[in-house]
Amino acid sequence: MARRPTRLRSRPFAEALLEWYDANKRDLPWRRTKDPYAIWLSEVMLQQTTVKAVEPRWRRFLQRWPTLRDLARAPLADVLHEWTGLGYYARARNMHRAAVQAGDALPCSYSELLKLPGLGEYTAAAVASIAHGERVPLVDANAGRVLARVYTIGEEINSAAGKKKLRAHAEALVPAARPGDFNQALMELGAMICTPRDPSCPICPVATECAAFRSATQAQYPCIKAKEKMSGVREAAVVLRDADQRVLVLLRGSSGSFANMWELPRVVVEKDEEPPDAAVRAMRELADLRVKCGRELLVVRHTVMRSNITLHVVEASCVRIRKTIVPSRHVEARWVSLGEWGRLPKSITQERVRKALQRLNEE
Ligand code: SF4
Repeated sequence: MARRPTRLRSRPFAEALLEWYDANKRDLPWRRTKDPYAIWLSEVMLQQTTVKAVEPRWRRFLQRWPTLRDLARAPLADVLHEWTGLGYYARARNMHRAAVQAGDALPCSYSELLKLPGLGEYTAAAVASIAHGERVPLVDANAGRVLARVYTIGEEINSAAGKKKLRAHAEALVPAARPGDFNQALMELGAMICTPRDPSCPICPVATECAAFRSATQAQYPCIKAKEKMSGVREAAVVLRDADQRVLVLLRGSSGSFANMWELPRVVVEKDEEPPDAAVRAMRELADLRVKCGRELLVVRHTVMRSNITLHVVEASCVRIRKTIVPSRHVEARWVSLGEWGRLPKSITQERVRKALQRLNEE
């Protein structure tokens, strides 16, 4: 029988968890600072990126903009460029907006942090508890898995009801002393011991408090909805060069996906269309240019949200190249060398395309 949550002894739970954390935590650079700005940066970077990838990028970002004020004064284009390779650029845009709004320092309390752009419940709770010692719970996927098992939570953990339950349980457990360490310890336990498959229950510091362990039902928790099917999308991108062998790139507006990013003109290939025809249409619709399509230079496959995208990169030529292009859906058009494009903010996929074009040029 699973133990009822109300009977769980929060004090021994927190004590056992913190003792384990003190002896076993990974030595990560953001755990050696109490600077709210540096902690905020680590939390934002870690949301979609692995610890290994974040470590060098976190140091580099802080070397370039050591304080919140430095970040607020930096041009957004530089911040986005610095973010290249980390993906999910909305994180960088929001950080920059929040830095501008916050001024000299981040607010200290959870409720004030929540008012900044891009700071959701998770990030606000992380900064408030870790940097300022505020007693607020913090539930990421790792902590959620631990709690779902400890309390044998039957609700799907990403549903509104599931999240509410997780938060309520976490709130009851987080101690007044060392709330930031407790929150990190719960997430660390999920990352190191209470792993999705084959959790290491025999060495788990909270095994005696865990209902799933006691009923041998660990594999049934957390309850996760079956994944939605991925959809397949084809896109065509156009490489159009001027007389100086510069390529045409377009700047997306400041909202929507890939905002403020420079990219090759591209469109979704319609059902009854072939990529070269779509490339011709792309140039007509996006840049008011009549082009002829040449060979397909490369194909790049990538995933965005629930879509598997196949990007066909097609070469095109134009009899009358105009120096000035007025884009219809983008905010700016530029002719740039591949090297110049490298210094502009762009998505990971567009960077892959740029590097592949550079390699083709060198062959
Ligand atoms: S006892 Fe096992 S299932 Fe329960 S929290 Fe620990 S590792 Fe996870």
